[in-house]
Amino acid sequence: MPILLQIAAMKAPFGIRIPDQFCCGVTSNKLFSVRSGYEVRMGVHHGPTEQIWTTVSRFKGLPRIRYFLWLLCHGRILTNVERYRRHLTLDCCCSVCGDEWEDMDHIFRRCPVAYSIWDMLIRADKKEEFYLMDFKRWFFVNLSNIGGFSRDQVHWDILFGSLLWCLWKKRNEWIFGDPDRYSEPILQRGLRLQQKAIAACSTNAAEQLRGPVIANVLWHKPPPGWCKLNVDGSVGRDTGMAAYGGVVRNEEGT
Ligand SMILES: [Zn+2]
Repeated sequence: MPILLQIAAMKAPFGIRIPDQFCCGVTSNKLFSVRSGYEVRMGVHHGPTEQIWTTVSRFKGLPRIRYFLWLLCHGRILTNVERYRRHLTLDCCCSVCGDEWEDMDHIFRRCPVAYSIWDMLIRADKKEEFYLMDFKRWFFVNLSNIGGFSRDQVHWDILFGSLLWCLWKKRNEWIFGDPDRYSEPILQRGLRLQQKAIAACSTNAAEQLRGPVIANVLWHKPPPGWCKLNVDGSVGRDTGMAAYGGVVRNEEGT
């Protein structure tokens, strides 16, 4: 009863008294619609998730990294936990440090490899918040550059996204390939990709991109015992017709 009296004693936030009325809490205009009802029924949630998509689509880093971030948002990064969920392996462990649970949070934030990188970049007074934050929130806040985590906030979003890409590449190089193939340290590699993206966004680069770009593209043979699949595709804007093709070649190019 004291709670009811307390509620009754609260003043409404309006200057005039208006009667109570029903409203829909999941739409911005508070009006119910069939669509909003369907989305509630199907468990479709808008808000922070949509903000993540927008943030990724506006990422100013290199396009291949933006695509990688897109996959990361969809949870399509094949961590060992994800591979276990898909019955592709019986081992959830991190192949780098041996931790028993290699999910995205581990690879990109908690694995000692990642931890050592962030430790150099994150402000001392922000580290606790940085490491305790929910992973999705952590991803969004850093990619939006609104957390104030980095000592150098200029283009932190580009560096953050680039470092996620570098951590994933390095993890795969350790597992599947020659770890010495890319000897460049992760942080240095991330900074290089950040600078590359910033340079590409500069006015001079934009001017150059307006004209045709002539570049020598070389085919690199795969390692002995491997085959390489190269694919390409195109779509006609007028007809809507699309075509694609590919070619598989071994280390001799045949
Ligand atoms: Zn690890």
